[in-house]
This record gives sequence, structure tokens and C-alpha cells, in this order.
Amino acid sequence: MTASIIDGKAFAAALRERIATQVASFHEAAGRAPGLAVVLVGEDPASAVYVRSKHKATVAAGMGSFEHKLSADVSQDELLALIDTLNADDRIDGILVQLPLPDHIDERAVTTRIDPDKDVDGFHPVNAGRLATGLYGFVPCTPLGCLMLLKDQLGDLAGLDAVVIGRSNIVGKPMAALLTKESCTVTLAHSKTKDLSSVVRRADIVVAAVGRAEMIKGDWIKPGATVIDVGINREAAPVEGSNGRLVGDVDFAGAMQVAGAVTPVPGGVGPMTIAVLLRNTLVSAHRRARVPYDK
Ligand code: NDP
Repeated sequence: MTASIIDGKAFAAALRERIATQVASFHEAAGRAPGLAVVLVGEDPASAVYVRSKHKATVAAGMGSFEHKLSADVSQDELLALIDTLNADDRIDGILVQLPLPDHIDERAVTTRIDPDKDVDGFHPVNAGRLATGLYGFVPCTPLGCLMLLKDQLGDLAGLDAVVIGRSNIVGKPMAALLTKESCTVTLAHSKTKDLSSVVRRADIVVAAVGRAEMIKGDWIKPGATVIDVGINREAAPVEGSNGRLVGDVDFAGAMQVAGAVTPVPGGVGPMTIAVLLRNTLVSAHRRARVPYDK
């Protein structure tokens, strides 16, 4: 048996097209474009690449993009003051501070300073609490993107056994909360989980968010299961000076022999994250301008 490949790239492209149309209607109704502010501190090359692609995608969707690049030695107070300004700026519906931040800045202080109603990353404890208690709020982009792919693949998820491997605040925990909301029976596994392979073998849905190359083996997977691989790991370069291959947390070739459907890396979950960021910003704009949002 060979699993089908879940094409996150195509799904995300279609979602972005739909968002661009909805942005145009919003513009007409509200007399302004939705606005996303992205704050980058320092020169981390990976962060710079993410910020650049977020900017390009925001502009391509017809939204306003407000970029703020601060030097690595900016003080925490200066960064918090910028967030206060963005919180008060009516043109801005979403605020995102690119992580990680330099060591002298307390990430939690920054995340909690963002107005929860502009927190399109969904990292504010108020939004985490809303998700945990079933209230309406912003859900972190990566797990929400995973859920969209799962529902597209499987339809109703109620009653399915799901395992989420990894319990970070930005992926694993919100993913487990979303699947619980969909009435899955959820196991949240982590580095202290005993006999992980047996836990994975029970699952109809496997979401891997660990950050360890090809850790989840094909023979851990239940035949026919749906596998969502969030991990992005760069293998050592074969030749000095070249880039190593990107691989996920799942042994893709092994999983393809057993699973029903698998997301590839790259081209699976990755493209969904930015598309959902745009969606969250669009939803925020509708809410703030009191324009009804038609999904
Ligand atoms: P974190 O490092 O914050 O969390 C990793 C989790 O994996 C922890 O909960 C840890 O457990 C668990 N873990 C570590 N080793 C094991 C093990 N041997 N067995 C079981 N669990 C283990 O990572 P993130 O959640 O931020 O990211 C996870 C991966 O997803 C990374 O590769 C990252 O690059 C990728 N990612 C991709 C995104 C995308 O857009 N596609 C977006 C965000 C992340 P414990 O809590 O016990 O330490």
C-alpha cells in the first residue's frame, strides 16, 4: 500500500486566493485594508527569511504590511513601547513579534503586552485560555493549519484516536486542544512518554511536532493512519558550503508504506502557517471593524 501525499502547498495557495478575494470585499465594506504589523529584532537569518515571506504574502493578499526592524541591542522597554503604539494604531489588526528574541528580552513579557484581540499568532495566555475553555479567540497558526488539512482529508474527526507528539505552547498543546474540541480521543506525548512507538501505533491521527529528524518510524504507524509532520529539520550538508536536505520528524519513506495519507516536508504543514496568519488577520479586521465575516 502507498499512502497519498497531502499537498499543503496547494491547499495553502487556494486558501490565500480565497483570502485575497475576502480582503477586497472587506476593503470595500470598511474603506481600508486589513493591516498586519511584523516586528523583527536582530539579524537572525532564519527569522529574516520568515519575516520577508510574511511581508510578501501579506502584500500579495492585498493587506497592509507594517514592518518594524529593530537592532539586536534594542532594550525591552523600547520594544514594549513599540507594541503599545501598535496596539493603539487603528490601521493594524494583527501584531506579530518574530521569535526567538535576543536573550536580554523576556519573551513572555513581550507576548503578553500584545493586545489579545490583535494577537494573530495566538500566543497570548488569554488566547491560550480561550482555546482551552472553548471561547472564541486566536488559535496559533501552525496547529490551526494542521487541523484544516486533517478536516479536508478526513471530514468529521469525532471519535478518532489522535496522538500529538510534542507539547510546546505554540504547536503541541494547542493542537491537542483543537483535536479535543473536534471530539478526538487525544494523547499528548513528549520526551518523558514511555513506549512512544506503542502509543503512536494506536492512533488514527499522528501529529509530530518534536524537532528530531525522522524520529517517527514507518513501523510505528497504524495502517491507514493520517500523519501530519510539523517538524522542520535540516540534515548535515553533504558537501561543505552547500545546504543540507530538509526533513520532517517522520520517516517519510517508511510512513508512505503504511499510512493512509502523509504530509511531506517541505510542502506540507509549512506553507499553511503563513496562509493561516493571513486568515487570522482578516478575521481580526472584520471583528474590529464590525463587518460580518463570511467564511
Ligand atoms: P519545541 O522544541 O518547543 O518542543 C519540542 C517538543 O518535543 C517538546 O514538548 C519535547 O518534550 C518533545 N520531544 C523532544 N524529544 C522528544 C522525544 N525523544 N520523544 C518525544 N517527544 C520529544 O518545538 P516546537 O513545538 O516549537 O517545534 C517542533 C518542530 O516543529 C520543530 O522542528 C520546528 O522547527 C517545527 N515547526 C514548524 C512550523 C511550521 O510552520 N511548519 C512552525 C513551528 C514549529 P518535552 O516537553 O518533554 O521537552
